[in-house]
Amino acid sequence: MDNTHHFDVIVIGGGAAGLMAAGRAAERGRKVLLFEKNKKVGKKLSISGGGRCNITNAEEDLKVLLSNYGSSEQFLYSAFSEFGVKETFKFFESRKLPLKVEERKRVFPKSEKAPDVVSTLTEYVANENVDLRLGTPVRQILVADGLIKSVVASGGEYTADSYIFASGGVSHPETGSTGDGFAWLRELGHTVKEPTPTIVPLKARDAWIRTLMGKTLTATKITFYQGNKKCFASSGDILLTHFGLSGPTILNSAGAVSDLLHTGPVTARIDLFPKLDVGESDKMLVDYFEDYKNKLLKNVIRELLPPGTADGLLALVPSIDPEKKVHSITREERRSLIDTFKTLPVNISGLMGYDKAVVADGGVPLTEMDMRTFRSLRSPNIFIVGDLLNIKRPSGGFSLQLCWTTGYIAGNHA
Ligand SMILES: Cc1cc2nc3c(=O)[nH]c(=O)nc-3n(C[C@H](O)[C@H](O)[C@H](O)COP(=O)(O)OP(=O)(O)OC[C@H]3O[C@@H](n4cnc5c(N)ncnc54)[C@H](O)[C@@H]3O)c2cc1C
Repeated sequence: MDNTHHFDVIVIGGGAAGLMAAGRAAERGRKVLLFEKNKKVGKKLSISGGGRCNITNAEEDLKVLLSNYGSSEQFLYSAFSEFGVKETFKFFESRKLPLKVEERKRVFPKSEKAPDVVSTLTEYVANENVDLRLGTPVRQILVADGLIKSVVASGGEYTADSYIFASGGVSHPETGSTGDGFAWLRELGHTVKEPTPTIVPLKARDAWIRTLMGKTLTATKITFYQGNKKCFASSGDILLTHFGLSGPTILNSAGAVSDLLHTGPVTARIDLFPKLDVGESDKMLVDYFEDYKNKLLKNVIRELLPPGTADGLLALVPSIDPEKKVHSITREERRSLIDTFKTLPVNISGLMGYDKAVVADGGVPLTEMDMRTFRSLRSPNIFIVGDLLNIKRPSGGFSLQLCWTTGYIAGNHA
């Protein structure tokens, strides 16, 4: 074979994990080739965190941090001891990308621009002389005796001592993550858990939600039911969209809702005043109505409800005229208002698909990996990183931290 096609390390996929892996391997003096099928690297990374990129989570207690990874916790201690949150801060801040911590310990670049994270990693691989081939999909892997013999991309066959698989999962396929890696890993003898969208918005059929699309219900509690059975509840902000519900509270409930949907229909109730019981909510209305007794209901209620939602929510109680002055609102009418605002009805019709998912679980189980190196236990000349690994996690920076950790460590050992 032509020697120019042989490398120490070939990385497939220029997303968060692949860029980190390629840069780190090259930093160690390895001759690295990185294939990315898009014309630019880091497409998913550049839309992450609503374009601001929630780069990691600043939880300092390792045990608490790792408890977010569910049953994978026990497998991740050694990896996070080698490259954890502290190392992520150091990596980016030493490359002139200052970070800041927001509520729920979510960490963002101070610039609040996800493309700045992509630029930092692009400079990293360029400075370390990674041979980056953009617009070059790996089309095939050739396998012999359980090992990769070569990969096929435009320009021919390429060989390496080690191959790092970083081609991502299946969420937002328009970013390039179309699940190519899952098929290859099966071919190499790995079990690949079928991906299902986990951190994903919920579809709902209720007309009131569509009327209020674009609005956020703040500090709510949403309780999920099957029939009359209360299944679980979750608190926080809810974004109303043209298809249903979104926002962190919903995204992080989607996995559990998905499990419920396997056993039957799911409904939910949203409480806009979760800190007050029915009596206390009524008292709040009484006090407000007393203070503004000559004002119209539609104007007074605006003060109590999330911005922009009053008209839409009042329409759910058609028996009460919003033009009525509040001094003439009866006790029964007040109770109807409270009942409505504390139990907004939602009929969940399903989960949005991969195209809208932040994370889809699925991939290679950690029991098939050497977790100190991210080398495959099935095929010793490959390393597997990022979204190709089957690790459940919530939103909040936990996914990208996995990319930095797995990418760095694979690059350190390949
Ligand atoms: C909308 C959205 C917002 C998100 N926000 C956050 C957030 O704020 N914080 C957080 O922690 N996580 C977030 N995530 C999750 C996080 O972005 C992913 O976990 C992470 O980007 C996965 O990185 P990866 O390198 O494993 O894969 P990817 O980013 O999917 O990269 C894989 C790369 O491989 C390339 N590729 C695929 N097949 C081939 C092939 N055959 N040949 C060559 N190249 C190939 C793809 O083009 C792609 O560039 C978000 C995800 C989405 C979709």
